[in-house]
Amino acid sequence: MNKIDLRSDTLTQPTAEMLQIMITAPSGDDGRAKNTKGEDPSAVSAEKYAAELTGMEDALFVPSGTMGNTLAAITHCRRGSKIIVAENMHLYKAEKAIFDPDIGGMQAVLVPQKGGVYDTALLESKLKTGEISLVCLENSYNFEGGIAISSKDIDMLCELCHKYHVPVHLDGARLFNAAAALQVEACELCAKVDSVMFCVSKGLCAPIGSFIAAKAEWILAARQKRKLIGGQLRQVGILAAAGEYALRNLRQRLYEDHQNAAILASALADCPNIRVELDSVMTNIVMVYPQNGQTARQWIDNLANEQLVLAHYINDNAARFVTYHGITTDDIREAAARIRTYCANTI
Ligand SMILES: *Cc1c(COP(=O)(O)O)cnc(C)c1O
Repeated sequence: MNKIDLRSDTLTQPTAEMLQIMITAPSGDDGRAKNTKGEDPSAVSAEKYAAELTGMEDALFVPSGTMGNTLAAITHCRRGSKIIVAENMHLYKAEKAIFDPDIGGMQAVLVPQKGGVYDTALLESKLKTGEISLVCLENSYNFEGGIAISSKDIDMLCELCHKYHVPVHLDGARLFNAAAALQVEACELCAKVDSVMFCVSKGLCAPIGSFIAAKAEWILAARQKRKLIGGQLRQVGILAAAGEYALRNLRQRLYEDHQNAAILASALADCPNIRVELDSVMTNIVMVYPQNGQTARQWIDNLANEQLVLAHYINDNAARFVTYHGITTDDIREAAARIRTYCANTI
């Protein structure tokens, strides 16, 4: 029996064509600035395309999504600044760097959300204090089962924040999954946000890399901060070219991952001993809640040992499956059958 690894779309591998592009990508020293851009032509080209896709003036390549979000926070804010996040946002729950007293030293102000949309009355009451420096959004929303939030909702939240002159940062690690699910262009989902981060290293198959995009002046400030935190790379074109290739060629296929997630979710919908929230399966993530008294950790470990299907631990109640390039519909049907066998035997 072969292993079916559905822990994360970070497991994607660069495609053969992408590797070819990387080998031939022209490169320079991205740390040496020529006007406002680095000297690496492939990075300049990829950043230009990243800006175009998000409808922003400029963009900046960063090694990771965490660094992109961190840079966004330190460019918008300073030590001690108050930032609105929701409790289960990746920035707050998984990254923490900006809120670590020894690193970012910023303060999280938690506002509850539903469907990725903050409680607007509570949000406004916090904004009214005049003490908030930044509001963060996330799309698709990882720990909400990968739900995609509509441009209408994002615009509404941005307008509310802007009424109080507070900027909005969008953690769009899987922005192109959200766009594919909603059948809109990514730029529509960031029309009103002040900065956006997205990853090319997840479903888009690039080996390394994320981008932040915003106004040109802000990107220039972020470029300077990127150097301070060690994110300035040298012959980065090898990576940036992979990212540009992914953005040009692989975002169009993300719907296939979403179809596979839907197939998996519906195959598990009536499976005994687990609960699957079908409504939240909008992109490439399927959340599963074990109901047989096992913790998610035990459930995941036993499933891996008995059926060689790998899931990712979210919390004691929840496990996550993610579909991605390289996982076929046949793999998904096989995984569903194995998960059903496992569940039927765990009374
Ligand atoms: C993966 C992820 C990040 C961080 O990206 P890394 O490249 O792993 O640092 C940020 N936000 C969300 C929502 C993510 O899923």
